[in-house]
Amino acid sequence: MGWLLRLARSIAGVAAVENGDRWRRGFSVRHDWPDGTHILVGFRLTRPAAERRRRGTEAYWRTAPMRPRCSVVPVSFRDWELHGQRSDCRAPDCPIAERPPAEPVRTTR
Ligand SMILES: [Zn+2]
Repeated sequence: MGWLLRLARSIAGVAAVENGDRWRRGFSVRHDWPDGTHILVGFRLTRPAAERRRRGTEAYWRTAPMRPRCSVVPVSFRDWELHGQRSDCRAPDCPIAERPPAEPVRTTR
């Protein structure tokens, strides 16, 4: 049954990361907040799945007075997991988008 679960997860684009596969490259949605901090949310194995997550997140924040700038960044599952333990991260060497988002980004300025 394990393979069926993995197949279902991979179709859904949800991370199904086995122990031996923790350095596998995937994608995450990066939220850059106006105060200069950022977080990485929603690990996905494929860029299209991560882009779907980004669009959903942007829709969620659209009406908020303060909203994050969202981008899809490449990251390994292990790095993504470690990053989740940081708070108020401002490190300049964290993963950034390889290309600008397809849709124009609105800022609050
Ligand atoms: Zn960071």
